[in-house]
Amino acid sequence: KSRAAQRFAGLTRSATVAIHDLVQDLRAGGARILDLGGGQPDVATAGHIAAEAAAALEAGFTHYTGSRGLPELLTAIAAKLAKDNGIAVDPRTDVIVTPSAKHALFVSMMTILDPGDEILVPSPGWVSYTSIAHLVGARAVPVELSPTNGFRITRRLLDTCVTDRTRAILVNTPTNPTGNALRREEAEDIAAFAAEHDLFVVADEIYEKIIFAGRKHLSLAALPGCADRTLTVNGFSKSYAMTGWRLGYVAGPTDLIGEAVKVQEHTVSCAASFAQRGGIAALTGGQQFVLDMAQEYGRRRSRTVAALAAMPGVECADPDGTFYAFPDVRGAGFADSAEFAKWLLRTAGVAVVAGTAFGPGGAGHVRISFAAAPAVLDEALDRMAAALADRA
Ligand code: PLP
Repeated sequence: KSRAAQRFAGLTRSATVAIHDLVQDLRAGGARILDLGGGQPDVATAGHIAAEAAAALEAGFTHYTGSRGLPELLTAIAAKLAKDNGIAVDPRTDVIVTPSAKHALFVSMMTILDPGDEILVPSPGWVSYTSIAHLVGARAVPVELSPTNGFRITRRLLDTCVTDRTRAILVNTPTNPTGNALRREEAEDIAAFAAEHDLFVVADEIYEKIIFAGRKHLSLAALPGCADRTLTVNGFSKSYAMTGWRLGYVAGPTDLIGEAVKVQEHTVSCAASFAQRGGIAALTGGQQFVLDMAQEYGRRRSRTVAALAAMPGVECADPDGTFYAFPDVRGAGFADSAEFAKWLLRTAGVAVVAGTAFGPGGAGHVRISFAAAPAVLDEALDRMAAALADRA
């Protein structure tokens, strides 16, 4: 029995981090593993962003900042939210810069959930939502989405999951792992549902810039009636290829952000000072490289989806955004998707994440990241195709 606190009962390690560790172990043992398991852009952080942070370090900009973040960064975030998302916030009172979007999610759930409260979390959904809810003493209730309607959120599904303990709903668009971007009717259904049950909305929009031609990102907080109940979480990891910088933010109504800042103050004080300077450069500099990166992911998406669709026993929908494909592998004849992932790692040396890591709704699917370098991606898809063909 663990000597740690009771809250660790039921808390598991992040399945995606665990895959990362397993790949490192196998590599240390000499195996050549092609990793399509991770959620990291393969490209480097843009030079002008790195240069700004380096200059800040050089100049001795290495001390605490205010706990909400640097005023110039808060202003840049508010301007970005107004321009890109149609969300109006006061940078002085409605935004907190956090060390990562993950921490922004922790701060958000701490702020709106009491022990025993429930937050609806679409399933399949990103691995950490459930664990963060658990850490704050709340319960994540999976809203099991169905592959037969392409994992879309429906009002009927939400209605079956709401109880008198439900306080909030989490929305992630574009979605890790399915790649779905919220359609207008889904967003309106969620907004009406949240209003009817007086729920908070936590909107994780970290993949907003990785969205493909013909699709448009929708921000929940911009929908009528949503601004006052929505905490919008975003960050620099995916849009600007800055995963190691640990830089994110949360924006929302003044009263909630006023409480949230206390969580920030008593946990991390502030995000790293020089990283924040890099964040200013990211938001205020030219954005063409962000669009170019999304286009490159779009090309990899097409290659990935086409390759998967040609494999025996595999079906794959076109993701709207993110750098993940979420193929249905039920036709490949494995007991479950974890067995499939293990078999693929052993026989082909290709790491993917089993769909069940993203909750019960992910059964029968695996997540394949096409943020890997193109040569790695191509070889991994070839190996996967060959292994499946051998088996068929
Ligand atoms: N939200 C989603 C859906 C993610 O996939 C990730 C990272 O994988 C995060 C949040 C966390 O981002 P950050 O690196 O800013 O903590």
